[in-house]
Amino acid sequence: MADCLFCGIVAGEVPSEKVYEDDEVLAFRDINPQAPHHVLVIPKKHIASLAEAGDEDAGLLAKVIIKVRDIAADLGLDEEGYRMVVNCGPNGGQTVGHLHFHLLGGRRMTWPPG
Ligand code: AMP
Ligand code: ZN
Repeated sequence: MADCLFCGIVAGEVPSEKVYEDDEVLAFRDINPQAPHHVLVIPKKHIASLAEAGDEDAGLLAKVIIKVRDIAADLGLDEEGYRMVVNCGPNGGQTVGHLHFHLLGGRRMTWPPG
């Protein structure tokens, strides 16, 4: 998708600090981390937001979420816990229009979120 920052990262045109990659999923460190560990896990397929995901994307999104679990375990976060966040649309605080799952860990999170 033209002009999509994260498609640019998938294509290798925009540099990133990759944590994991396979045919369908990419994970890289957030450029502005909000926790000691802050990883973005994305489907390589361009899906603009969770609201834009189709029923046919269900299997792909399940893979992304299971990969969040695996990456969290690889980072040693599974015992103390972590947070997975999906911001959707303006009210959700989404700033990049390519669906991404935030994996945040290494500190105690607060609730409710801001
Ligand atoms: P959101 O606000 O949920 O859309 O999250 C977008 C995230 O992308 C923010 O946490 C940004 O810090 C992060 N971000 C923006 N540009 C880059 C980049 N070039 N590499 C890594 N993370 C980025
Ligand atoms: Zn994209």
